[in-house]
This record gives sequence, C-alpha cells and structure tokens, in this order.
Amino acid sequence: MNCPCCASAEILLRSAKRLSCACAACGHQWQSHPTAAPIDYRQLSGRNIPDAAAHQAKLDDRITDIAPLLFPNLQVLEIGCAEGSLAACVMARGAMHYSGIELSGDALAAEKILHRVIREPATKLHGEVFDLLLSFHVLEHINDITAEVSAWRSLLGDAGVLLVEVPNQAGHPLLSDDPNVEHLHQFTTSSLSALLDRAGFAIERMTCGHFESAVYSDSLRVIARPCLPPESKRTALVARFRQALNRPFAIWGIGGDYHSYVAPWISEMPPSALIDSNAARHGEEIGGNLVESYDPYQHKDLLILVASLRYSSDIARDAKSCGIAAESLVYLADIYGLPRHKRSAENAP
Ligand SMILES: [Zn+2]
Repeated sequence: MNCPCCASAEILLRSAKRLSCACAACGHQWQSHPTAAPIDYRQLSGRNIPDAAAHQAKLDDRITDIAPLLFPNLQVLEIGCAEGSLAACVMARGAMHYSGIELSGDALAAEKILHRVIREPATKLHGEVFDLLLSFHVLEHINDITAEVSAWRSLLGDAGVLLVEVPNQAGHPLLSDDPNVEHLHQFTTSSLSALLDRAGFAIERMTCGHFESAVYSDSLRVIARPCLPPESKRTALVARFRQALNRPFAIWGIGGDYHSYVAPWISEMPPSALIDSNAARHGEEIGGNLVESYDPYQHKDLLILVASLRYSSDIARDAKSCGIAAESLVYLADIYGLPRHKRSAENAP
C-alpha cells in the first residue's frame, strides 16, 4: 500500500484509530477500507446553514480569494456547491456561467441559483473544460482522492485555476484526530501539496487559518494552476504580451528586469525601439536595435513597455515628462500579474 498523496510506501497501520493509515513521509491520514456503509449523500440536505453571521463571514473570506480570479464570461465549476450560497455571492460579481456538482438533496435548492447543477461526481464528467474550479470541504469526504484530483486536472484548461480548501489536519493544528465519520482523509500541508503536484498542478499559494465552522476552525486553502511544460509556458507568456502590446511598441528600461522578464520572449515580438533614461547605455546593441533616448518624432505613435519592476515609477515619470500619455504606457508588472512597486527615496541608490 502506498500513500494516496505522496506515494510513499512507509505507512503506519493503526488499528485503534478511525483513520487507520498514516503516511510517515507526508503525515496524511486516511481510512484505507471504510468499514461503515458508504454515506449516501443523496439522502442528506440542509446541513450548511448554521449561524448566519458566521456563514456570511466565511463566504466573505472565500470571496476575497475568488474575486481576483474572475474575468468576464468565465466557466466556473464548484465541486460540492451545497445549496448554492457561495455560488450566489460569486455570480453577483459579473457575467459568468456557473455549474455545480452536488450529490446531496441540496442540489434542489442549488438549482434555483446556479445555471446548472450536476448530480454526478467529477470523475463522471468527460470532455468539458472550465476556467475556474472551486471546492470547499469536499475532498476529505471522497475515498479515491487520486482519481478525483486527476479528474479536476482534466476538467481545467491550461490557463485555468483551481481553488481547493480542506480542514487543516483535524481542523486545528493542536488536535490530532478528526472524529467526523464522513471524513475519509485528513490532510497536512505536505500531503495536499504532494497530491496536487502528482496530479499535474503547480501550487501558486497555500494559506491556512481559514474558518469553516467551530468544528473546523483552521482550514488549508490552495490556489493552483496546471503545471505547464516550458514551451506551453512560453506560449502563454507571449499571448499575454500580444494582448497588452497590440500595436507597434518601444521598450523603455534595458536593465536586469529586461533580461529576466523581456529577453525570454522578445524574439517573438520584435520592438520598434529600445529606450533607456541612462545615457551611458545609448548605442548598445541588443537584438539588432540600438539603445537610444526617447525621440518624440520617431516614437510618438508607439506604445511604451515599461520594462522594469524596480524602476517603473521612475520610467513612468521620465516618459510623462517627455509628453507621453499615461494610456500609452504598458507595465511589465501588470502583464506578469505583480504589484507595481513604488521605489521609496530611502531605497534609491
Ligand atoms: Zn504521504
């Protein structure tokens, strides 16, 4: 027997424990052969409306991480949408198509809110592709988590995102055993990472401390994206730049960030000019272009790629002082999805 998360064969068998297997490598605990009859979720409903204020606080915490992942008309699939209260909050934030999987009787309530409610597990869905997969406190109920997470990967496009949350260990790091008979798995940060990694996901962010209920006061939340081979990463990167630089452009800023973030794709999209504020660089040749100063006669119709993370506010100031409109500036940080740093006077060399 191997660990369903990390595949280690070093398994501790604990006959006295409800979760009878523990992985010595990643700390995952699970029930290898559920003894009780499998729970028939179709017979259950209405189990998710406890304290209204706590419920809303939980939804607000989830929306904080979901909102930045939304874009117009995306296809969302929520695995375990319950009665649809999260769906209602997400759907209020813009145009999208929202599907949910719900095996319990809550599906009837969800059908009044979601565009579509599917009453079969994700492993039965084939040939569909979604942009965003959401799953809160569902994975720990599923016996074959390897098959489940593999199905999630096949339901996501290469540019898609997964947001999954499970109890952090037993629901609080100081508690060892989760007594909930519906929970067939107890995750650690290591086991959840290993499971997602082996299914072809790259973790973008993992956070803990998310409040699900008084019983599970600490939950692990992961945002992950499909792990792409190098050529697909480059294609995705070039697509972002093509979208942002949709007419002839100049690159302003030929320093370290240019070499890290621009040089890897620039052969696909040759610039019309290379500009730098530092006169010492003028005349340097890079990729067939000479670095020069801004020339309003030659460069006035070009978009300007601000090609520095560290000095973007300095470049923007210099560009604006040359009469370049703010709408003509495209920032490297925006294309890579990074915050724009303002360089403070104290940090200036
Ligand atoms: Zn393991």
